[in-house]
Amino acid sequence: MTLIERLRRHAAERDAAHSRRSRHVQSQRSGMLAECDGKSLINFSSNDYLGFAQHPDVIAAFQQAAARDGVGSAGSALVTGHFAVHRELELQAAALFGYEAALFTGSGYLANIGILQAVLDDKSVCVQDKFNHACLLDGARFSGADLKRYPHADMVQADARCAEAKTDTLFLVSDGVFSMDGDAADLEALHAIAERHRATLMIDDAHGVGVLGETGLGSLQAAGLRAADVPILVVPAGKALGGQGALILAQGDIIQHLLETARPYLFSTAPSPAMAAALSTALRLLETQPQHHARLQENIRHFRIRAEAAGLPMLDSQTAIQPLMAGDNERALQWSAQLRDAGFWVSAIRPPTVPQGKSRLRITLTALHTTQQIDALIKALAEITGDHDGHG
Ligand SMILES: *Cc1c(COP(=O)(O)O)cnc(C)c1O
Repeated sequence: MTLIERLRRHAAERDAAHSRRSRHVQSQRSGMLAECDGKSLINFSSNDYLGFAQHPDVIAAFQQAAARDGVGSAGSALVTGHFAVHRELELQAAALFGYEAALFTGSGYLANIGILQAVLDDKSVCVQDKFNHACLLDGARFSGADLKRYPHADMVQADARCAEAKTDTLFLVSDGVFSMDGDAADLEALHAIAERHRATLMIDDAHGVGVLGETGLGSLQAAGLRAADVPILVVPAGKALGGQGALILAQGDIIQHLLETARPYLFSTAPSPAMAAALSTALRLLETQPQHHARLQENIRHFRIRAEAAGLPMLDSQTAIQPLMAGDNERALQWSAQLRDAGFWVSAIRPPTVPQGKSRLRITLTALHTTQQIDALIKALAEITGDHDGHG
């Protein structure tokens, strides 16, 4: 069988399983109004939780830095790609999150793979929640460490996996907020387990920063934990910070080790200086303009009240991620298509992103949604899911 024949056979299998994927072209956006494949839709699948991707100050910072420093960094950070704006962003992030040092990397995926490969080897054990983001699982696999996964949110099993590990290098790694279910990890329990077994606790807070905590600083703030309790914190910048890249926060010794040995950091072009400048502004907005976080919280609260009143089968999530369970792929796709006809952009999430039989609509709320848009979505969801029940 030729390569093409083999690929076509795989595609046919995905077809039969309703798991084909395609991209939609977004040609315009204004707030959460998007022109998608030529049709105007309200976007309820954006990760731009605070609206910073479109904030005028963030855009201005990006434009000014590009005018001053150019577009590409034109080098790895260790060669010629490390600009003053990168340095400033790292200092600012470390101060804001209360860490000694920070490292700005090209993406969250690369950050997690880079960290785990740089600190773990085949004598290490890495204990992880089964629902952790794919790049945390990949990072542990690529490192050669013994990857031990515990059932989602099962702290008894997490403790047992750590207890049975016989190694000097034990890592306990979790998402702060789980990206497909929207639930928060029990950070207090994870911290206690890490203490008990002398494990290094590493948290990826992609969906916690900007969302959880009194001032939106994320899962640690919400759980009352400090930097000393979570030695490695990863903040991907493509979600609430509205940009691209990731900030790794840790002690100076850890950051120094990563910047000298993490392969995706060494062998990849540094992110654009303009992106660093934009993210500096996003962090400043997070720190100084509480209205964005307050507005997001109000939208989450409003959505939850209305969804409950409408009897929608929502998962128990207090974050910007509000999944609506569909079960099989076909129904998730059908709901997504019906919403599209009604003017909403809500993506269907299917395996392998979620377990078999757990396909869903992943609804996300942002500070830019209006109350009217949320009410209209609830009405459409009630009609669509009600339809289904009617036909058994
Ligand atoms: C999105 C995400 C990542 C990947 O970050 P990118 O910057 O998009 O590569 C990592 N971890 C979690 C939990 C995420 O949701």
